[in-house]
Amino acid sequence: MIGSVHVLEGGSNAVNGIWTQFGGNLSFVCLAISLWAHFSIQFQRRSATQEKIAFGIVAGAASIGSILLAVEFNPGLYIDLRFSPLALAGMFGGPIAAAFAVLMAMAFRFCVGGVAMIDGIVAISAATGIGLVANVWIRKRSPALMDVALLSLALGGVLVVSMATLPTLVHARVLAIIGLPMTVLNCLATVLCGFILLKTQQWALERSILVTAFSQSPDYLYVKDRNSRFITVNENMIRLYRFKTTAEMTGLSDFNLLSRPLAEGLYYLEQQVMDTGVPLIDSVEHIEGRSLLASKVPLRDRQGRVIGLAGVTRDVTERTVLERELRESKNLLSHAMAGMSDGIAMYDSKGFLVFCNDQYRTAFPLSGDARVVGAHISDILRRVAETAERAGIPDNDCEDWIKVATAALHSNKDEEVQLYNGDWRSIRTRLAEDGTAMAVVSDITATKQAEIALRLSAEQLKSLAETDGLTGMVNRRAFDEAFARETAGSARKNTPFSLLMVDIDRFKAYNDTYGHPAGDQCLRTVSRCLRQSVSRPADIVARYGGEEFVVLLPSTSAKGAMIVAEQFARLLSQENIVHTGSEFGRVTASIGISCATGATLRVNPNRLLTEADAALYDAKTQGRNRILAHSLEERHAMKDVG
Ligand code: GH3
Ligand code: MG
Ligand code: MG
Repeated sequence: MIGSVHVLEGGSNAVNGIWTQFGGNLSFVCLAISLWAHFSIQFQRRSATQEKIAFGIVAGAASIGSILLAVEFNPGLYIDLRFSPLALAGMFGGPIAAAFAVLMAMAFRFCVGGVAMIDGIVAISAATGIGLVANVWIRKRSPALMDVALLSLALGGVLVVSMATLPTLVHARVLAIIGLPMTVLNCLATVLCGFILLKTQQWALERSILVTAFSQSPDYLYVKDRNSRFITVNENMIRLYRFKTTAEMTGLSDFNLLSRPLAEGLYYLEQQVMDTGVPLIDSVEHIEGRSLLASKVPLRDRQGRVIGLAGVTRDVTERTVLERELRESKNLLSHAMAGMSDGIAMYDSKGFLVFCNDQYRTAFPLSGDARVVGAHISDILRRVAETAERAGIPDNDCEDWIKVATAALHSNKDEEVQLYNGDWRSIRTRLAEDGTAMAVVSDITATKQAEIALRLSAEQLKSLAETDGLTGMVNRRAFDEAFARETAGSARKNTPFSLLMVDIDRFKAYNDTYGHPAGDQCLRTVSRCLRQSVSRPADIVARYGGEEFVVLLPSTSAKGAMIVAEQFARLLSQENIVHTGSEFGRVTASIGISCATGATLRVNPNRLLTEADAALYDAKTQGRNRILAHSLEERHAMKDVG
């Protein structure tokens, strides 16, 4: 047969115990692969190529060994398991391992020689080739038992084809005589050894995960023996103590690394853990200014005896500092919150109160007890409405008010609200990005009251500035403003506008005769008469200066103005203020009237004043105690009212 033809020439194994011999051959191949599995861990520290070369050599040796242990199944025909290690070398070791294995097997087969040498070498190559095909098949994933089973079937197929086609083998009728056991046994060996290799790969993976986790952990990891000496440490420990390899630390103890008192303390602690068997979890250690969190767990052998301990130490210096800073800033913040004069509250995005200080509650005397963490803004506002704590809440539709005010919580705004007792609160609401609303409430009662007082006094000042002190009527300054405003208004509306200019006759003489206080009293009486003469709210009576007055009559024609003037003259005559210095024996007044409409008002309203003044002058020169009207369109004298 393929590999056994060399034996055709010389081998003479007994057929008795043939299955024992098969067993021996199978065991040898399995042993070789198992030994490889055992020692392959050593190669993981070396390069992957070295590992593949070593695997190739082992597989080649297993193949050669199997040839040497070939079993004579039929006289002159031998069976061995040489193909199985070669196929496995291809599948698990790839081209490099396959190359070493197949070259060794070929070289050996070449040395053995014989008629079937070429066919034997072809069959060896085919078996290795099918292994390489399997290697491509499982590329980029971990092989499974199914893959091994498929390889074994494929190998069986290759062997059958070889036995059926290679000329020397066909000639020796190898397929018919030993085809079945040869194929079955090689398949069996492939499955068994493949299973061993699969398991080895899985263990190697698990081991490398554990080793990585151990060596690369950011914590300090170590294993110590019963005497607290290091058995192994991780990379972090090596770096901490400035060593280069784990081996340099093996056998050392804390006494070699730390000060004596510190080492003694740790030794005592560790011995206690190992003596009692009780693990130490998260004990705080302070070593050389660093805060460490150490856990030490006893390690036991199969009988449960403590043989050492495994330790994990975490450097929590930074965390401790951060925690302290956080605690301090929290304290500071809550102090500030408690000590500040403003009320502060935080509502979450759904409107529930998540935080507030006492000042926030006391700022609202009637709804303060509803302002508790967990309360919803709408319930708080309902209490505000029920107690009428805030001014300006509509009585009838307070539910609407609650709805609107609740919706308004989540917007940036500054409000000033007045409470039932007249106090004022400012509520500044600011919205955070996460939808939280922060409200700051300040008592602005004093500021608000000062503001109101200021506004009142400003209004008083304004009215004082616009009022004539003696007569209480509008003064000249306010008259000027009113004149400009009212003439413009009438011009816009295109209505007639009339103006009366009134001057008391012989008033200097009155003063001279009756004294200044009597003159003042006379001025007051005259102004009262003037006020009583006008009836419309829009009419304005002003003291123009000294004993001169003006009356503004918007929307009034010259005729209407005449009626007002006559009414005044009548009232003044009814007062009958005695004035011996006057040719009329009593206080009289002269009145000039002017009236204008649209265009004049728009272009030159001041003409109203000059015309009224001119009319007044005419009244004086014509003998006083009379009314003269100057219409701006036509000028005509009016009647004597004396
Ligand atoms: P005429 O008939 O031409 O108007 O003569 P008249 O004396 O009234 O006019 P004149 O302008 O010469 O005098 C006005 C006087 O009015 C002079 C001033 O003493 C007096 N007078 C002006 N203001 C006041 C005031 O507030 N109180 C008093 N008692 N007299 C005033
Ligand atoms: Mg005068
Ligand atoms: Mg006068």
